[in-house]
Amino acid sequence: MLVSPHRTQRPWQGSVEKQASDAQPQYDPSCYLCPGNARAGGVRNPDYGSTFAFTNDFAALRPEVPAGRIDQEERGLLVSESEAGTCRVVCFSPRHDLTLARMSVLEIRTVVDTWIEEYRELGAQGAIHHVQIFENRGEMMGCSNPHPHSQIWANQTIPDEPRKEQEHQRVYLEKHKICMLCDYVELEQEAGQRVICENVFFLALVPFWAVWPFEVLLISKIHLADIGALDDSMRSALADILKRITTRYDNLFEIPFPYSMGFHQAPTDGEAHPEWHFHAHFYPPLLRSATVRKFMVGYEMLASPQRDLTPELAAARLREVREVHYLDRV
Ligand SMILES: [Zn+2]
Ligand SMILES: [Zn+2]
Ligand SMILES: [Zn+2]
Repeated sequence: MLVSPHRTQRPWQGSVEKQASDAQPQYDPSCYLCPGNARAGGVRNPDYGSTFAFTNDFAALRPEVPAGRIDQEERGLLVSESEAGTCRVVCFSPRHDLTLARMSVLEIRTVVDTWIEEYRELGAQGAIHHVQIFENRGEMMGCSNPHPHSQIWANQTIPDEPRKEQEHQRVYLEKHKICMLCDYVELEQEAGQRVICENVFFLALVPFWAVWPFEVLLISKIHLADIGALDDSMRSALADILKRITTRYDNLFEIPFPYSMGFHQAPTDGEAHPEWHFHAHFYPPLLRSATVRKFMVGYEMLASPQRDLTPELAAARLREVREVHYLDRV
């Protein structure tokens, strides 16, 4: 990770994105996620009142794939394997115009409960070894529909990013006899300069290794392997910290802040995973304003990630903004 804070002085300041500032209606008759509306293929959404989960009509993963493996000329060079799985969509609210930042903690708690149900139900299926819960927020992150929703991709094989994290967590645990992220939480709480906000069970910070300008790591203060291990008060604490992070994000440039976020947790492969510590990543693309984004190109693609804003400065910026949403201020 290369940190070059002097680079923010240079003349070119990143691209200027067109600002999507159109206020959304509470109900959009053309939205395929709004209650009662028809989806592709003619399925109609129920008239749901809180959260609503369904299997993606255009799922990238399908359960009925026959098992197969092809190793071309048996050289171990071009290997294809089949991958079974499923893709679910979780609507956060019947309201088309809301976001996590604009929902109440109680409403977000219902979303947390739905994620837990989905994680448990999908993970209990024998062929599902990994459950990835994630949200793409905003057009800049390729989110085609403003209706508040997340996706869940569940499949056979542990994907690259969680697998890398799993290996490093396992090595650290074996070497130090303590969980890597438990150790990290303690260190960050002592240092304080990268912490944004916290509650009894969760800590939100800009990680030491942050790649994106306002990247956030949301981490449980106590050792938990997965979202299913959260008890009643921890679920509410997760809802609380999610609202606070997303509100701070929106308040930073006073816009609906774009990001990709997702949970990392123990796989559902039936093995014991003492190395896994439940956490979430937020990867927002914005750098200096509502319209200036950070690109990961050139050196980042070919050599190593590089950032201009130090994680300590990014954390200070996110600490400074209020937890009252800019649209709720009188
Ligand atoms: Zn909608
Ligand atoms: Zn831990
Ligand atoms: Zn992670």
